[in-house]
Amino acid sequence: MNENLKFLKEVFEPESLPEESLPEFVFWGRSNVGKSSLINSITKSKIAKTSKTPGRTRSLVFFEYEKRIRIVDFPGYGYSKIPKFNELKIDRLIESYLRQRKVLKFIFLLIDARHGMKDIDKNILYQLDKILGSKIVITFTKIDKLKNQFDKQCLLQNNKQVNEIFHKTFFNTSIKNSNDIFLLRKFLFKSIEE
Ligand code: GDP
Repeated sequence: MNENLKFLKEVFEPESLPEESLPEFVFWGRSNVGKSSLINSITKSKIAKTSKTPGRTRSLVFFEYEKRIRIVDFPGYGYSKIPKFNELKIDRLIESYLRQRKVLKFIFLLIDARHGMKDIDKNILYQLDKILGSKIVITFTKIDKLKNQFDKQCLLQNNKQVNEIFHKTFFNTSIKNSNDIFLLRKFLFKSIEE
């Protein structure tokens, strides 16, 4: 593993956002959805923390990859110890980032393939949609954990829902499948060539 992913900055307020000098890709989702693992796989690094302790609730973490793009790691949501009313509304820092950031290319909203879209994911997606629309990409994670035909059928249903009801592009991924990661990387790098 090389360390082409470099920590740039952790930001707690909109005034401290870094200069808009590289295209940015945001990763977001419920705590434990597999966000850090996916960031590490896509960037072939291990810098994004994989941890079950949902300590970070409010900051945005910026990484720079090969001096070509930035990865923005959003705080996981849906952690049960945080009162729901604090979570259902996108907070000031996140909203401000989403509204003002011209270099934002795509936001990957991660959904655990075993659980599908929960109410909180739909709520976040609804709010995101009003700000970003076509920049949202749904990414189902941990698909290697779908063992039986029924689970796989559910994933197809969830894919269909994303496509036909929410009108979003989607990826089905597992960090254990290099082809899934390859396709996601390809999508990401192709978007900065255009
Ligand atoms: P985060 O809280 O969203 O950053 O989630 P993590 O990346 O820390 O992952 C949570 C747990 O899911 C960890 O134990 C990971 O090893 C595991 N995990 C993440 N992605 C996958 C995957 O694609 N397949 C499997 N089987 N486990 C995964």
